[in-house]
Amino acid sequence: MDINEGELIEATNKKGFKKIFQFYSKQKIQLQGGFIDPEDIINSEEGDTITASDGLKYHIFKPTIHDYIMYGVKRQTQIIYPKEAGYIILKLDIRNSKVVGEAGTGSGSLTLILSELVSEKGRIITFEKNLDFLNNARKNIEKFSKLQNITFVNEDFINSNYENFFDSFFMDLKDPWFYFEKVSKALKRGGNFGLIVPTTNQVNQSINELESNNFLIDEIVEIFHRKYKINPNRLRPEDIMTGHTGYLIFAKKVK
Ligand code: SAM
Repeated sequence: MDINEGELIEATNKKGFKKIFQFYSKQKIQLQGGFIDPEDIINSEEGDTITASDGLKYHIFKPTIHDYIMYGVKRQTQIIYPKEAGYIILKLDIRNSKVVGEAGTGSGSLTLILSELVSEKGRIITFEKNLDFLNNARKNIEKFSKLQNITFVNEDFINSNYENFFDSFFMDLKDPWFYFEKVSKALKRGGNFGLIVPTTNQVNQSINELESNNFLIDEIVEIFHRKYKINPNRLRPEDIMTGHTGYLIFAKKVK
């Protein structure tokens, strides 16, 4: 496999085991009970089967963004899950060359997705007031991506001073309404705003405060995600699912 030092690799098997690790040519990769030799990775192609020292078999891939976020990112905060992220990027019209703001960065999981989608011509400005979290987010992103389109701002978003600047903005902060005036000023006219809140009380308060800050509310939505057991003879949902993550609110800046 064409792989450089420090690049990410995913080992996965039929039982749903997944592990994401950085590849180093002199470092054995510890899996469940056994290990894989780095030579075996160099000498195989993506998707090949590799047998670990304990006899268990794994397939080797370069991880998708989804798998990196779920199994590779070091979480120091709650993160935006892929089920929400997928919808957020469409509602906020995140694509090549867009200028996107985010508050707070947290562990950087959404920041990474935004950065990949706006690509070299776009720009992400992400605000995080906690320096430890910001440094962790930066490391998480740098392991996956070489893009240089993110500006990390280590300050409270309330102190920001942007005007008619962002095409879109996403907010994942406690008590988001304190910052609606700032976002409203920072967004271009017609710009897209999205936020996530965990409780219905916060949705209520957000509705009132958005309307008094030049926002037209477009949608309030909750996303359910039910996985199925991979068994063609007894096809049925998994017994346990994540019952609640948060409510998404989308709005547009109007006059
Ligand atoms: N969306 C992030 C992700 O996917 O990894 C997680 C965000 S986390 C739930 C919320 C973050 O906002 C925390 O890291 C917190 O330190 C940061 N934060 C809270 N209030 C802030 C503020 N006023 N300005 C900037 N960052 C803030």
